[in-house]
Amino acid sequence: MTTYSAPLRDMQFVMKDLADLDGVTELPGNAEATPDLVNAVLEEAAKLASEVLAPLNKPGDAQGARLGDGGVLAADGFAVAYQQFVNGGWNGLSGDPECGGQGLPELVLTATIEMWNAANMSFALCPLLTAGAMEALKHHGSPTLKKSYLAKLVTGDWTGTMNLTEPQAGSDLSAVRTSAVPHGDHYRLYGQKIFITWGDHDMTENVVHLVLARTPDAPEGVRGLSLFLVPKILINADGTLGERNDVRCVSIEHKLGIHASPTCVMSFGEQEGAVGFLVGEENKGLAHMFTMMNEARQKVGIQGLGIAERAYQQARDYAKERIQGRPVGHKAGERVAIIHHPDVRRMLLSMKAQIEAMRAFAYVMAADMDFARRHPDPAERGRRQARVSLLIPVLKGWCSELAIEIASTGIQVHGGMGYIEETGASQYLRDSRIASIYEGTTGIQAADLVGRKLAPDQGEAMTDLIREIRAIEAKLGDEELKAIRDALTAAVDALQLATRWVLEIVGRDPQAAMAASVSYLMLVGYVCGGWQMARAALVCKRELPSLEDHDFHRQKLATARFYADQILPKVDALRKAVTSGASTAMALTEEQF
Ligand SMILES: Cc1cc2nc3c(=O)[nH]c(=O)nc-3n(C[C@H](O)[C@H](O)[C@H](O)COP(=O)(O)OP(=O)(O)OC[C@H]3O[C@@H](n4cnc5c(N)ncnc54)[C@H](O)[C@@H]3O)c2cc1C
Repeated sequence: MTTYSAPLRDMQFVMKDLADLDGVTELPGNAEATPDLVNAVLEEAAKLASEVLAPLNKPGDAQGARLGDGGVLAADGFAVAYQQFVNGGWNGLSGDPECGGQGLPELVLTATIEMWNAANMSFALCPLLTAGAMEALKHHGSPTLKKSYLAKLVTGDWTGTMNLTEPQAGSDLSAVRTSAVPHGDHYRLYGQKIFITWGDHDMTENVVHLVLARTPDAPEGVRGLSLFLVPKILINADGTLGERNDVRCVSIEHKLGIHASPTCVMSFGEQEGAVGFLVGEENKGLAHMFTMMNEARQKVGIQGLGIAERAYQQARDYAKERIQGRPVGHKAGERVAIIHHPDVRRMLLSMKAQIEAMRAFAYVMAADMDFARRHPDPAERGRRQARVSLLIPVLKGWCSELAIEIASTGIQVHGGMGYIEETGASQYLRDSRIASIYEGTTGIQAADLVGRKLAPDQGEAMTDLIREIRAIEAKLGDEELKAIRDALTAAVDALQLATRWVLEIVGRDPQAAMAASVSYLMLVGYVCGGWQMARAALVCKRELPSLEDHDFHRQKLATARFYADQILPKVDALRKAVTSGASTAMALTEEQF
């Protein structure tokens, strides 16, 4: 089985040449993030990922998390690895320095998140949820709550969870029933949440739950939801840990993948009621939770990238070892490794090209997040934020869907051995499968893109994006880049047409717009990937004559060309699906199914 090795060369290229690392480090407050420091951080993270987290991935999958008498037990080795993770300061990499964080840019954090997820997705989920809790508390928590909880979450001494889902309330949170009754300076919570990731474990002393619940007399639907912080262990006035709160994990789910990440059924208030503290304002819970969800959605997109990279590395190494058949056109002679067969090459390159496109898309968005937070010009901050808001559902939906496809291709490269657990290839497919479901399914991301992002600003942020892609298209004049330019032009034309169609139809026939929405989301994803691969090709072509690192740049040019030739044509099929046939999804009556 292949161990994980972080693709540092590509990460550094994308950060520097596509995501404007220099510009990011010049932003106010980012002075510490010198290029040397960033490189050192990446190298150390790569070591932790490959030497500590990756070796636990397969055993963690086989053993899984377990529910003991005192609560959930993490898989063997996870608690020690988590302590190393915390001691290394990895949890607070981009956290507020006043709370013990290191204040490094989102761009740097993004590269490390890719590594944690590639090495061990189950493990990586724990800090992913903590990051969301930190964000919600930072933006909406009272000074007292922040003082008691934020620093511990930033350092990772305690972990955070996100408690939204109930049996009757999944995509539709208006059906949440957990109640919160005022009780002096706090509330008492009663109810059950399901599917709570890392809802309990023995890796830290405390777990901080962020819970959506309904106060008495709250309005019906999502307008009546409030957000509460419910610690597993209550905190005494002097800051020390006190009594156990009335919240516990009653069972953990048996599931397809991510076995080492406990998916908990959480029970609140079986006795006197779980003590909870209001975060932000009553009835604004969903809006506050969205801070957390947006953060988590972006990170689930990166998770898709990470797991796809791991599946690729495994498939590539296997293809170089497995001897089968002879080269095309040779009936006799030496048998060769399967990587010599053109169809295996096609599979490997489609994995590699799409992964590199996903990475560039994800890192450029992370840089946009840095610019949106810290750029001195408010207009530029606004523009970057509009771009991030528009594209978060695309990053989440497209990268998580591609991760499944790539992990599946990884199995195909292995042939029968891919289907056998021993190689590890099937674990990546099982693990990746959840990323397009949690934090909002792809259908929900697509509805968000069309209904909440595209329509309200009448496509302004999308038009800005199209303009930027067209500017790159115009620079691809070189003969060697002509095929890339032609493919990108066709893809952007298709994006423009599809966008116009969606904007035109969404008010008139919302059902047709929603039936087309996932195809539209995927279309936007493929175009964004093509845009970044074209930018990469431009940089390589420009720098090639003056470079020693020819091999990387030549390889990137070939990969960008493959993306243009083999992947971008999917955009036109998606455009047709969007503009001509989507409403046929509603052609059958319910009884006809
Ligand atoms: C392993 C795992 C970990 C999880 N971790 C957490 C966690 O930490 N915290 C938490 O709160 N939740 C968590 N979840 C829950 C997860 O977020 C939900 O499962 C997810 O949001 C989908 O909700 P649902 O399962 O109820 O599916 P449903 O909402 O019933 O959806 C079923 C299908 O209908 C579609 N659908 C539903 N409504 C619409 C609509 N309006 N438009 C278009 N299509 C629609 C969906 O896309 C989907 O295909 C986790 C789930 C799993 C399996």
